Amino acid sequence: MNYNKKTVYDIDVAGKKVLLRCDFNVPQDKATGAITSDKRIVAALPTIRYLLGQGAAVIACSHLGKPEPSFEKWVKKQTEKGKDPAELTEEKWQKSLKKLTLAPVAERLSELLGKPVVFAHDVVGPDAKAKAAALKGGEIMLLENTRFEKGETKNDPALAKELASMAEVYVSDAFGSVHRAHASTAGVAAYLPAVSGLLVAKELEVMGKALDDPKRPFVAVLGGAKVSDKIAVINNLLEKADTVIIGGGMAYTFAKAQGGSIGKSLCEDDKLDYARQMIAKAQEKGVKLLLPVDAVCIKDFPDPIDAPVDVTIVPISAIPADMEGCDIGPETMKLFADAVKASKTVVWNGPMGVFENPTLAAGTLAVAKAMAESDATTVIGGGDSAAAVQQMGLGDKMTHISTGGGASLEYLEGKELPGIAVIQNA
Ligand code: ADP
Ligand code: MG
Repeated sequence: MNYNKKTVYDIDVAGKKVLLRCDFNVPQDKATGAITSDKRIVAALPTIRYLLGQGAAVIACSHLGKPEPSFEKWVKKQTEKGKDPAELTEEKWQKSLKKLTLAPVAERLSELLGKPVVFAHDVVGPDAKAKAAALKGGEIMLLENTRFEKGETKNDPALAKELASMAEVYVSDAFGSVHRAHASTAGVAAYLPAVSGLLVAKELEVMGKALDDPKRPFVAVLGGAKVSDKIAVINNLLEKADTVIIGGGMAYTFAKAQGGSIGKSLCEDDKLDYARQMIAKAQEKGVKLLLPVDAVCIKDFPDPIDAPVDVTIVPISAIPADMEGCDIGPETMKLFADAVKASKTVVWNGPMGVFENPTLAAGTLAVAKAMAESDATTVIGGGDSAAAVQQMGLGDKMTHISTGGGASLEYLEGKELPGIAVIQNA
């Protein structure tokens, strides 16, 4: 996959209508609908300001949540969730859609920009078309939730064409959605010249370089709950890294695959062979594979997750039958931190333990600290890993924290991302 893509800096947008795909999929208060974090809107501002400053007329669009644009399908889904079909009226469906309007985002965006944001009450309907036609250079509008259109998630060419008909240039800046081939993230580029916005450009520059042309030694730190979530990531990074570190819940499957006793720790028995294959692959490729040597164990999983816990530290291969490993132990922390400190590039995906509990967050913190203190290029990809680093207050010490959970995972898997593939090559 080619990551060397044109950006907004490479195209003339003065006086042009620009369709800008943003990630305005903001968290909302369930009861009131109020935006609980405007981080994603704030993150979009540099690209928007640049385009407006160049004299572009910006037609922004985004999805929000998972509305069901077909009444029949909505009824089916709700019934599967155990709702009584008799109570599933068309009115209730409409209400469920209204909850996911982008109108509050337009309002917040307007406050942040200090200028009006015209809001269209449809995506490609008469309101959107009229407002887009009237929009002048230096002005901005926001379309309604793209997923209100049935064709969006199906990447329907008809919808893509309608979207494109309002603009002359397409700017892809929703990194969190580039792994999806939807009409507004990919399909639309068949009808318009496509470039990346500044957010996507940064993701490509930092992550793309780390993966394709890293300063070495290149260390990949992998963790998280399940091997099965990370199969393709482990496999791909064994092709690229000098050292692969495996911690978190998935390390116990590797420990068991090597003949260890892992007690009640997380384990995927159907992945034991895979773990052995990866150990063999590392040997073949001359990649150093670092696995935990000790574990922080508990008897009962905390409920709530941040409740106090009693811990015991044991060798990873000798976890008592009634115990569960929930973090890497002190010797492993040192082993992993030393490898991180000796590296020039670190890519990290997946916490080292159950970091949601303060007592079980030490391993994740140790790795995060080693990264924060090193001069290496440090990249975090993955929703929970990013949350852990932010929670520990180390976010601004990293070179880059990817904004897309699912997208960064697919990036690390080496998959072609449809929303990136459609951007013109530089
Ligand atoms: P990311 O979102 O960064 O890709 P994952 O979603 O794969 O990360 O994994 C994060 C989850 O893994 C966290 O909720 C964490 O509690 C859990 N986890 C990490 N280590 C363990 C462990 N030893 N046992 C159980 N769960 C674990
Ligand atoms: Mg996660």
